[in-house]
Amino acid sequence: MSDRNSKSPEVVLGVLLDGKATSEKIKLQIADEAEAFTKQSGRKPHLVAILVGNDGGSETYVASKMRNCEKVGFKSSLYRYDTSVTEVELLAKIEEINQDDDVDGLIVQLPLPKHIDPEKVTETIDYKKDVDGFHPINLGRMMRNLPCFIPATPYGILLMLQAYQIDTTGKHCVVIGRSNIVGSPMSILMARNANPGNCTVTLTHSKTKDLKAQILKADIIIAAIGRKNFVTADMVKDGAIVIDVGINRETSTQTKSGYKLFGDVDFEHVAPKASYITPVPGGVGLMTIVGLLKNTLASARKEIYF
Ligand code: NAD
Repeated sequence: MSDRNSKSPEVVLGVLLDGKATSEKIKLQIADEAEAFTKQSGRKPHLVAILVGNDGGSETYVASKMRNCEKVGFKSSLYRYDTSVTEVELLAKIEEINQDDDVDGLIVQLPLPKHIDPEKVTETIDYKKDVDGFHPINLGRMMRNLPCFIPATPYGILLMLQAYQIDTTGKHCVVIGRSNIVGSPMSILMARNANPGNCTVTLTHSKTKDLKAQILKADIIIAAIGRKNFVTADMVKDGAIVIDVGINRETSTQTKSGYKLFGDVDFEHVAPKASYITPVPGGVGLMTIVGLLKNTLASARKEIYF
């Protein structure tokens, strides 16, 4: 175990849950499996993304998803729309892609402009191609521990816990944030009779009373709030496992990209207390892409739905 009192991610290695190394390793396996699929079927697994508008974060995420598809030998297609696209037009495109036998996975990058109902979009995507795992059929099946597409970010977190062979059984997991895409599904997955899982779970949110007291009870903290450095060292019990989902972008003159990313956890002060911790960037974000790729491959191989 390295020096936990150090401030830099490099020297806390050993307790750092390294999304870069872990995702690269899993992507090599995915690439092998994709190659075998392509040889056998004569076509590549195919992910389609729809991007509306040009929000900086969404542009970066979609570009990274497309790039990673190419890296592991998938085909990827991107349909871009201006924010003026109507809901009717967008839903028609989704219906068209649903019918295309060459497409295994379809994702629509969120957030969408206000005049487009994200619920309608989610429910229009064929659940058999819903590799983001947001469709109510996939969420319902997940709840019942049936084969399904698990939402990509929670799936990535499970893969990270598995990769580090972290036994979660019997632990108290506190999830902060109850969004449909991260916090709520994560709380269900951690409580399921599965490994990782078998936790006693507390799902907290903006209306939770005495949040600090709740978080202090946690053996595992999963923070998905969207507020920079929200979880501070005084909220964290010694030895806790800390998973930081937050991606908070701030403009910066110090980076080439013109912005800097921060997590929901005050990494510098929490890392010395944690037994394991994910950095931002370099943690959950990279594992989310792995979750998406695994779902797309599973769809191509018809492992979940026939
Ligand atoms: P969201 O805005 O939909 O939900 C935020 C949740 O935090 C809400 O349920 C709210 O109740 C809770 N919350 C807000 N203020 C709170 C407070 N003061 N105390 C307690 N709870 C509070 O967010 P989301 O889509 O779940 O995303 C959360 C964060 O995770 C964002 O930073 C987002 O960018 C990031 N994210 C990262 C990935 C990834 O791949 N790493 C994927 C999705 C989202």
